[in-house]
Amino acid sequence: MTELRSQAVVLRVRSFKEADKLVTLLTRDAGLVTAVARGSRKTNSKFAALLEPLTLGNFLLHQGRSLYTFIQGEIIKAYRSLQGDLVRFAYAQYFCELCERSLLEGMPSGALFMLLVTALEALEEDSSPVRVARCFEVSLLAELGISPDLSGCSNCGSRQGVYHFNPREGVLLCAACPHPVESYPVSAAAIAIMKRLQEMGFHRLSVCVIPSGESKEIHRMVADLLMHSLGISRLKTVDFLQQTGLL
Ligand SMILES: [Zn+2]
Repeated sequence: MTELRSQAVVLRVRSFKEADKLVTLLTRDAGLVTAVARGSRKTNSKFAALLEPLTLGNFLLHQGRSLYTFIQGEIIKAYRSLQGDLVRFAYAQYFCELCERSLLEGMPSGALFMLLVTALEALEEDSSPVRVARCFEVSLLAELGISPDLSGCSNCGSRQGVYHFNPREGVLLCAACPHPVESYPVSAAAIAIMKRLQEMGFHRLSVCVIPSGESKEIHRMVADLLMHSLGISRLKTVDFLQQTGLL
């Protein structure tokens, strides 16, 4: 039987059979993994706290034919301050759902694991969870290889004027060039902020100001790119963020 020892973040937990849990993990060494944790819903389970969403831990799993089995592990960090804050918890769950939806099981992605941990740390410390969310989204696109090209008009090369964004291609088009029906105007300010996030990521993020309008524009561009490139849409956590006015 093959063993997997890895740090991982618990993305999602579901009840399974009478006393088990199915745990979706983003592991540092093996990417997205679903593991069954036998007996973990019993009240005396010593791993109850480890097998909760948003917990970072060391995990030992056995790899079976179709599923991993959780053997043991220990908590590195439980992100308690996120658990106690409705807004930050909602954003953290959004990050987890994005990770789960954008990776295939068995596809290793140490970089995405590090990005998620960095984002959870930032979400604890930053005064603006929205700013952390925009930075996570833009960084995720880079890790997935679908960053938009924001250098200028993709048709004529113009670096001036008002741009339309074409989400199908992930490019900008100037006012003088033809643009497809699904394209839409984006402000120069939103493009400038997105470029800053592409170049600097979480570095000195606390001095990056993202007004509400530009934040919405960036989120729309990211969501459209994810839909056109990877078919990702209808995220449950986005519905919640929208219903509560957080997005
Ligand atoms: Zn042009």
